[in-house]
Amino acid sequence: RFITLEGGEGAGKSTQAKRLAAALAAAGLPVLRTREPGGTPGAERIRDLLLGHGPWDSVAEAMLHFAARREHLVGTIRPFLESGGWVVCDRFADSTLAYQGAQGLKREVWARLAEVALEGFAPDVTLVLDLPVAAGMARAAARSGADRYERMDEAFHARVREGFLAIAAAEPARCAVVDASRAADVVFDDMVGLLRERVGA
Ligand code: C5P
Repeated sequence: RFITLEGGEGAGKSTQAKRLAAALAAAGLPVLRTREPGGTPGAERIRDLLLGHGPWDSVAEAMLHFAARREHLVGTIRPFLESGGWVVCDRFADSTLAYQGAQGLKREVWARLAEVALEGFAPDVTLVLDLPVAAGMARAAARSGADRYERMDEAFHARVREGFLAIAAAEPARCAVVDASRAADVVFDDMVGLLRERVGA
């Protein structure tokens, strides 16, 4: 099964991805925890390009994300799933629509790139960790790392948030929204409940 976590800055995706992978492993399942952009040596190089050499044109940026994602999918994610494993991925194609969409990338262009790069492949479940922009920015600012290209612009992050919520609303069979403004333990319990319902994890 392929589980993706999505959401804006400071939503707690990477912490929750770790906990989730640990819980699945404790239940005896083979689990791979990974993240995007990145996940293979080549895709990590593309991540460095993305994070270190902006600003990018939104289409060029989306193409780089999809190039990295294609490598990640073909080299890592798909083989692991095919061997019967569970993959927990911190960000996937929805992030490209939400982030690059917030910079002007058109949905049709995203869809064309996704079609070429993913050939119809999609997560089984996507949990969108949602929280108000101000709260997310405060959390992200508190832990700020030098290698990030966080844009501390409230209007931009508001568009990203709306983008994720629109994706979730359009694809309710795949996506569920989790209120990430609550305590980490409560958020995690919710995630586990949703996964149990949707993929029997
Ligand atoms: O997942 P994480 O928060 O570590 O993402 C790293 C950075 O990449 C974030 O600052 C996020 O805003 C940015 N990003 C982006 N476009 C994407 C994916 C991530 O701008 N498609």
